[in-house]
Amino acid sequence: MVDQTNKDERYKARQQKVQEKVNARVEAAQKEKGLFLVITGNGKGKTTSGFGTVARAVGHGQKCGVGQFIKGTWDCGERNLLESHGVTFAVMATGFTWDTQDKKADTAAAQETWAECKKMLADGSYDVVLLDELTYMVTYGYIELDEVVAAINNRPVMQSVIVTGRGAHRTLMELADTVSEVRNVKHAFENGVKARKGVDW
Ligand code: ATP
Ligand code: MG
Repeated sequence: MVDQTNKDERYKARQQKVQEKVNARVEAAQKEKGLFLVITGNGKGKTTSGFGTVARAVGHGQKCGVGQFIKGTWDCGERNLLESHGVTFAVMATGFTWDTQDKKADTAAAQETWAECKKMLADGSYDVVLLDELTYMVTYGYIELDEVVAAINNRPVMQSVIVTGRGAHRTLMELADTVSEVRNVKHAFENGVKARKGVDW
């Protein structure tokens, strides 16, 4: 009985210490600013995470914009839902680059979408801007890295930006406040399972 009482007291003391540490860290985090997030890596979940954040912001009545690079003509569940909730979409008109195999056309399409995104990044009324699959535009040279960096650096101070896509440029990761890398452990596609509406798009 005495043993159990001692155990309970030690547990309580340990938990109190944890609580004190957490409280101190919460108190120390006093900066308020828009965030720049990069979600990269080879695993599934980058775009869904970006859209999850947009849905979160919309749920708080915030204004959001989405730039979709590469996806092109795909039917997109998130777009179907979020456009009717006042989210602005700038969508690349062409399909996947490996379908079109036309660098000039892809560059023009990327630039067109990027021009719309730059407007959002310069507009203080946007709380959150998602730039989905932007990493590839930089890798393929369709959009200049310097331009992306400048637009992100010069955005309104309270605006948050999310960039998704594999192989994020080191400079973007250095610039970001938060970087998450989604690791592929396994994916159904590797077992011959078709992409599934509602889960994959
Ligand atoms: P999601 O849109 O599901 O969050 P994602 O943005 O992380 O995925 P992308 O590289 O943009 O991944 O790929 C989009 C499509 O490819 C989705 O249908 C997704 O399920 C699929 N996918 C993602 N990762 C893998 C993988 N490691 N192997 C095969 N297919 C994948
Ligand atoms: Mg994606």
